[in-house]
Amino acid sequence: MWSHKVFYKKTHPFVWCLQRLTLGILFILLCAGCRSEKQGYERLVFNGLTMGTTYRIVATVDNDSTTSLSLKKLVEKRLEELCQSLSTYIENSEITRFNSSAAGEWFGVSSDLYRVVVAADSISRKTGGAFDITVGQAVDLWGFGAEGGALSNELPEQDKIHSAQQTVDYRQLQIQSDPPALKKSDSELKIDVSAIAKGYGVDEILLLLENVHEVHGAMVEIGGEIRVFGHRSDGFKWTVGIQSPVRDRGGLAAKVYLDNEAVASSGSYVNYFEKDGKRISHVINPLKGAPVETDTIATTVIDESCMTADAWATACMVMDVQKALDIARSEDIGLMIIREESEDSLEVISNNSFKKYLVNEDR
Ligand code: FAD
Repeated sequence: MWSHKVFYKKTHPFVWCLQRLTLGILFILLCAGCRSEKQGYERLVFNGLTMGTTYRIVATVDNDSTTSLSLKKLVEKRLEELCQSLSTYIENSEITRFNSSAAGEWFGVSSDLYRVVVAADSISRKTGGAFDITVGQAVDLWGFGAEGGALSNELPEQDKIHSAQQTVDYRQLQIQSDPPALKKSDSELKIDVSAIAKGYGVDEILLLLENVHEVHGAMVEIGGEIRVFGHRSDGFKWTVGIQSPVRDRGGLAAKVYLDNEAVASSGSYVNYFEKDGKRISHVINPLKGAPVETDTIATTVIDESCMTADAWATACMVMDVQKALDIARSEDIGLMIIREESEDSLEVISNNSFKKYLVNEDR
């Protein structure tokens, strides 16, 4: 494994003040019209709200295309469908109904929920449970789920942490393919797909746009998770800036060119509260039923699918740095980790698979 390290000096203590800007890691999109349009194409941009965050589409369409309004409608219809299936924040969504269903019985599910759970299960197995969508009870207990509460900044009692942890185990969730169905062996088991479903949403919207013949390329972003296909309206490759948790180097940790790939991040510096000088983050260590205690503060993954990139990014927040790098090599995914090296410096570690996407100035 080849990796390189870049040392940052922190500017003002930490720029944790970025924390409340958005629920996801912020990405700065550098794709927007920096050069003139290539003949025959124009750039179409639209955005909106979904999944408790924002979405943004930048598409390369035929000149004089009339698809603008209908594309937005198509996209929002599909996003709404996904939320009705995958959102624990919607009272009667499919996932909420499954969570309150009885143990020991097959619960028929849509192909969306099925595909997300199958992908999550595969990553749970590969990470020995560092990634585990059955963290729902623990996420809620610590105040980071649909039940809310994190802002009270109070730590849960030890026996409650223990009880929540007992419900976390991906092996207690059985999956059937035909017809698609799920079964839990513990009625308290609660799934939460927040660490993978935004990525799945990006993949699904990208697929939808790929099938529109007037669209020749697009960048799809939901809450900081991104995937691209085709080319920009000026004919160049898509470029994505990945925000650094510190404010030097123009606020970017890296800039990457993407062709047909996805990039997703996870971190402990956006969604967290502080207690007795410790950062209590929304990323849960499933083995403890409690927020991770780690010096890794952000991870970014490049992969073909945004769903897997999204999930791997969270998994790499839970695993130690060496394990994350080893698994990234065996899975052939690009990985960048930003960790707190000492009181006043951060270390950035990127593997070769990540480095090959870097824009020249960062090589
Ligand atoms: P990521 O690192 O990608 O994911 C972290 C989240 O994953 C945690 O918050 C937790 O829920 C879960 N998690 C923690 N540890 C693990 C682990 N070890 N393994 C697996 N999962 C873990 N938020 C709102 O406030 N309002 C809404 O209406 C709303 N609707 C949503 C609808 C959908 C369909 C989805 C998918 C999410 C929604 N959210 C909503 C959640 C919000 O967007 C989340 O903050 C976001 O999904 C978490 O993404 P992230 O990039 O911040 O962190």
